[in-house]
This record gives sequence, C-alpha cells and structure tokens, in this order.
Amino acid sequence: MPNSFTPSEQLDLYCRFCKKVMPAQLERSIAGTGRTLDRESTFEYFCTKCRRTVCYLGKDLWGAEDNDQSDDGPREYLAKDHYLVGEVIKHKSFKDKGTIVGKDIGTPNRILVRFEKKGLKKLVEDV
Ligand SMILES: [Zn+2]
Repeated sequence: MPNSFTPSEQLDLYCRFCKKVMPAQLERSIAGTGRTLDRESTFEYFCTKCRRTVCYLGKDLWGAEDNDQSDDGPREYLAKDHYLVGEVIKHKSFKDKGTIVGKDIGTPNRILVRFEKKGLKKLVEDV
C-alpha cells in the first residue's frame, strides 16, 4: 500500500546561501509519473529570504500529519537511526535538544541540527 505523504508547508531550514537557518516554504511537490505523492516524491522548498531552493525526498521530511511525537518527548539521537528534517531530537551527551534543519545526503548522511544551547551541529545518521 503506497502511503500518501504531505510534508509541512513551512519548515525552518538551513540555507547554504544565507548561511543561517531561515523559514522556508514548500514550493513544489514532484511525484513520479502516474504516482501519488509519497515518501519517494521530491519536495522543493525555497528560502523566504533569498528564494533559492532546496529539495528533499519525502522520506527525509517530517510529515504534516504524523508529527505526533510520543509521550516520551523527542527521540534521542543515535547515529544508526534515520532522522527527518523538521523533527526535534534530544542529545544525551550534549544535554540539549534541537530541531533538524537540513541534511546532506552522502556516505554517511549528515543531519544539521539547531540545538537550543549548543547552536548548529552536524551529526551523522544511518551509520
Ligand atoms: Zn537563503
């Protein structure tokens, strides 16, 4: 069963051009031919300041509907887990929590997290 997916219309994203976290808005949702929007679709956001765009796959984005974080609060960061842009996580050794504001796809993937106290940090995921 393909799950349709709706990402948040607005996200705080790190803009490589502005070099800071800016509010970004969803510009386009690109589904594959004959497909509905799902976690394999591409979603394009633009920085509300410089209007440059950045693309993420649905599977890397926090959904508008399923953002019911459990009663335990934010997930704890573990390098082996997969994270979503827009998700709030907590970091045990930093004793801090932060919002994921970007992601670099690579080997390994890196997530960019804006921590409340520590500021911006890059962390690995899926390792
Ligand atoms: Zn920008």
